[in-house]
Amino acid sequence: MAYEAVWMKDPSKLNKIEFAKHEKDGLDVIRTIIEEYAHKGYDAIDADDMNRFKWAGVYEQKPRDGHFMMRIRINQGVMTSEQARGLASIARDYGRGLIDVTTRQAIQYHWLRVEQLPDIFKRLEAVGLYSFEACGDCPRTIVGNPLAGIDKDEFMDTTELVEQVNDYFLMNRDFSNLPRKYKMSISSSIYNNANAEINDLAFVPATKVIDGEEVRGFHAYVGGGLSAKPHLAQELDLFVRPEDVLKVAIGVTTIFRDYGYRQKRHHARLKFLVADWGVEKFKAKLLELIGDMPDAGENKIVGWKGVYFDGVHPQRQEGYSYIGLNVPVGRTNAEEFDQLAELADTYGDGKIRTTMTQNIILAGIADENVERVLQAPVLQRLSPKPKHFMSRTVSCTGNEFCNLAIVETKERARRVAQYLDDHVELDEKIRIHMIGCPNSCGQKHIADIGLQGTLVKTPDGMVDAFDIAVGGILGPDAQFNKALKGRVKGDEVGPVLAELVAFYKAERTDSESFHQF
Ligand code: SF4
Repeated sequence: MAYEAVWMKDPSKLNKIEFAKHEKDGLDVIRTIIEEYAHKGYDAIDADDMNRFKWAGVYEQKPRDGHFMMRIRINQGVMTSEQARGLASIARDYGRGLIDVTTRQAIQYHWLRVEQLPDIFKRLEAVGLYSFEACGDCPRTIVGNPLAGIDKDEFMDTTELVEQVNDYFLMNRDFSNLPRKYKMSISSSIYNNANAEINDLAFVPATKVIDGEEVRGFHAYVGGGLSAKPHLAQELDLFVRPEDVLKVAIGVTTIFRDYGYRQKRHHARLKFLVADWGVEKFKAKLLELIGDMPDAGENKIVGWKGVYFDGVHPQRQEGYSYIGLNVPVGRTNAEEFDQLAELADTYGDGKIRTTMTQNIILAGIADENVERVLQAPVLQRLSPKPKHFMSRTVSCTGNEFCNLAIVETKERARRVAQYLDDHVELDEKIRIHMIGCPNSCGQKHIADIGLQGTLVKTPDGMVDAFDIAVGGILGPDAQFNKALKGRVKGDEVGPVLAELVAFYKAERTDSESFHQF
């Protein structure tokens, strides 16, 4: 180990997972999977190693019968058509064809078996993709502006920066044992396209006049995160030049590694340290580690469009457009991925982009070819003009596959969106996020209407139900949604939301949008 594991000095402040992590680094499980478990099979996997599977990007699927889910890192949500084809072929051969787009722009498989993992790792690597550290107590997929490089509303193309930070941290054993998961966001979009406030560390566009010249760079936010105790990230009073982004990321991650809490798993994210220290102390510690930096300049975030891109839009490059497609509740498949790769090669820039709202963008389409792309069969389901509610519905995995889930979500969320589209007419689009437990992978807190799964007792026994919260938003007015009283049974969610939206429609004033209501 290249650094001193300072937290081991006081074992009384460590939970039992910390001892296992110290004994064998999470990354070591990748070799064990390839050399041992892939041959011996599921029943040979010991409990500590099963937990370490997360560092390989692999989780046990529900029910625990030998199947796994796997997450693939897609930096900033941008992949090549070759990578998309590689992902499709793995899904087809091993994952029953299913491909889910996650709320961190990653790709998720289901139905994998341990014997298949070495070949999957190999096939991913052949197209320059990795599942490693897509889960686990380590730096996860770096989210970013999926429109990087083509966005009229970004200050700079962040592609190289994201790659630089990713390449530094990926499989870096100095940072593979953090107190808990660690999420970074880097975007230069003035519309906060990478949800800065809900990340442990985020970089957002900023400018500062230095020696009489306006310099473009970033402001840094720290300590955001969701789950049962959600925190909005707080802005550090720092101006970060592009060439200093990696330095700041290393400094913040080092603070988390060395000072983050390791006693209780539910009190270990960076947000708790930031809340206890306050941003001033945090900044002072950071500067002690990385040296002096200029104070903040001007924050250039002007708003938040919910990270939605559906429809045809002009790019920064004149004569070219991008098309935002709706992936209903984030679920697509190998066949559609192949067709999208074909379209990207024939008419686009050869790339497929995933968004934090579980959708997909095709880009680099010459304006004269837009109509042809719109006629493609795959766009009849993955529509650029989806119905209102379907276009704004996000769902986590839920109890179809997730061992932590209390209720079913994905198919239910799709049915709720369809019900609302069939029964409610509204001139604005309301964002609905459904989650199956308090962990909030589906980012319930930032939705106009957030639905969190729970159970209620009825004369017929326990049934699925949901807590409803309203009014979440990010950007300059950032706030998490607030819980309404009462719980709604799972099969009543559609009609209850229809009533709620009808009430809003009747009572809102002209200038009021959902989060102000
Ligand atoms: Fe599973 Fe809960 Fe995350 Fe949904 S929010 S995917 S139920 S852990």
